[in-house]
This record gives sequence, structure tokens and C-alpha cells, in this order.
Amino acid sequence: MSDLTLKDLYFKFRDPTAMKTLAELIRKEAKDLKEPMRVMEICGGHTHTIMKYGIKQLLPDNIEFIHGPGCPVCVMPKERIDHAIELAKQEGVILATLGDMIRVPGSKSSLAKVRAEGADVRPLHSTLDVLKIAKENPDKKVVFFAIGFETTTPMTAALMERAFKEGVKNIYYHINHVLVPPPMRAIMDSGEAKINAFIGPSHVSVIIGAKSYQFLVDRYNTPVVVAGFEPVDVMESILMLVRQKLKGEPKVEIQYKRATTWDGNVLAQKMIDKYMDVRDSFRWRGLGDIPKSALKLREEYAEFDAEKVFADILPNEPIDDHKLCICGQILRGLAKPTDCKVFGSACTPSSPLGSCMVSDEGACNAYYRYAR
Ligand code: SF4
Ligand code: SF4
Repeated sequence: MSDLTLKDLYFKFRDPTAMKTLAELIRKEAKDLKEPMRVMEICGGHTHTIMKYGIKQLLPDNIEFIHGPGCPVCVMPKERIDHAIELAKQEGVILATLGDMIRVPGSKSSLAKVRAEGADVRPLHSTLDVLKIAKENPDKKVVFFAIGFETTTPMTAALMERAFKEGVKNIYYHINHVLVPPPMRAIMDSGEAKINAFIGPSHVSVIIGAKSYQFLVDRYNTPVVVAGFEPVDVMESILMLVRQKLKGEPKVEIQYKRATTWDGNVLAQKMIDKYMDVRDSFRWRGLGDIPKSALKLREEYAEFDAEKVFADILPNEPIDDHKLCICGQILRGLAKPTDCKVFGSACTPSSPLGSCMVSDEGACNAYYRYAR
């Protein structure tokens, strides 16, 4: 029997000696940067790593992290949360969704509150659990509130594939799958956050491939390094970005070679394409309407599309955030969680006022855990 433990697998990616060496190299080489490097980590998983391992403190002052909109729960506008709440309140409906979604505040309530009032809301450990719930409750309508970036979209498509194959027809899909490249474009087009380098998300890139970021080089002359989630991954990616800047040759590079390729997972892309289509536009919290930035069910599956089947009861007006919450500015890279007046006081992970405090991938949540 092998004595290999999980720690053996990740240790080299958290190795203090490697971190120290990388920090020294970055400090030495970054001295020659012509301008400060403002790096957006688009992915909430990276925000978490940066805060947890004190990576900010290891870097010189001319390298700054700008936290991006990389948490699907954080970027969902309130009206979509209200959809989930309204659906859960319907007679004969079971609402199944990601655990994190349950605590996100909508405009007046949350899934946690309506569940306490009697609604049947089921947090999922795995997307395929929806199939089990539907089979066990043939007389109920099971609404799957599907949320996530390109990472989790293939799982929703796989659920549909299995459900149709097995003839399970009481699942309705409320699709909230959002795409990463369009908000990157929107952030660059707005020019507000003055980003001049990107760390690309790991899981998302496994699916869509590093080629999806080439437009950032072609259109904005901005380097991108797809980085793994461990602290050594992030540090090595920063060094790669510094070296690109010094050479003056921006390109898309892959640091996370153990899982990401240039083309991504083509089978998963085909599976998504079979069931989903790109929406003309989608409203993002903090970023507003972004063209072609989210998915919807294909027209041929309209009878299973919760947005169509339950259209009469779903609110559609845009709803603004709580007036004290600056999640919108944080998601646009214009503010840090500690700039929020209620950070850590009226807003905490156990009592979140805004979405950025809810999920582990949310910037406010990461600051609350590691930078208070
Ligand atoms: S799903 Fe993974 S890659 Fe995507 S934002 Fe979250 S942590 Fe990052
Ligand atoms: S601390 Fe809370 S209220 Fe403030 S921006 Fe973050 S989520 Fe919003």
C-alpha cells in the first residue's frame, strides 16, 4: 500500500523555500519595471490564495493585486437571487442549488429564510444529486438553479444528458452560467481599473483553454498567465508576468500546465454547446449589462427552461444592492473590501449584507478571514 498522502501532492506547491526564492527573484527583477504592475486576478480562488498565504506582503510595492469578478455567487444580480426565492416558494416545487446560494441575500429575503418558512430548498453536494431528487419525487417539479462559470457548466450539461437519457422529465433548469472572457473585455474597455496584467483562472481555463484570452494581447497589449491555485503557482505566475513586461512582449502563457491546455476540454465544450446557447446580454452585479456574457438553454429545450415555464412569477426589474454595499466597485477593481464602511461590522460571513461576503471565493469573505 502506498504511503502517499494528500500533503505529499501539494507540499511542493506550498514549499516555503520555493516561495522565498520566487519572492527574491520577483523583487530583484521587478525593480526594472517601467510602470507599476496592476494585476487583476479574475478568479476568486486566487483572491483566496493571495490573502491566505500573505502573497501581497511578499511582493514589492510596484506590484498590486486588483481583485476581479471571479466568483459566480458574487456577480449574480439580486433579481436572479429573487428568481430562486420565488421559485422555491411555489407549491409543489423543490429548489436545488449550490450551498453558497442559500445564504445570499435577495431584495427582501434569502433561500435560507424561505426554507425556514417551509420551502423545500436542497443544497447540493453534486449536480447529479438533482437526478436522484427528481426520481425520488416524481410528483414534484425540481428546479435546478444552475450557477457558475465555465467550470461547472459541463456538469449541468451532463445532468441534462443523463436526465434525458433516463427519461426524467420533472427537472426544470434555471441557467445562470456566466462566462469569464466577456467581463475581462468589459473591464478593459471601461479603462477605470487601469489593469495592465492578468492572472487567468485555473478551473475555467481547463475547460475553455488558454486561447480564450488571446484577445487581451491582441486588443489591449496585456499579458495573461493562467495560474494554478497554490501559492507557488501564483508567485511563479507573477514572475512570468514581470518577465513578459520586461521583455515588452505580452502573450498568453500557461503556468498551470498540469491541467490547462491551449484548446481546453473540447469534449466538455461540445457538451455545453449541445444544450446551451449564448444570451445576447446578461446583467452582472457591479458591471451592468455585458453582451454575450452568459448562457441560456437552447430553444429546443424550452419546456424544461424554468425561466420560460415559470415566467409569470419571476421578477425581472433590475434591483440595486444594499446602499451601504460596495460589492459593485470591488468587482470592477475600483475598491478593496476594507474600503467598505460596514466590512466586518454590519457585514460578516455569518450575516452578509452583500454577496461578496458569502462565498469562499468572494473578496470580502477572503479579507474577513485573512486580513482583518
Ligand atoms: S470556479 Fe474556480 S476558476 Fe472559476 S472563479 Fe471559482 S475558483 Fe476561480
Ligand atoms: S463588506 Fe459586505 S457590504 Fe461591504 S462590500 Fe463587502 S459584501 Fe458588500
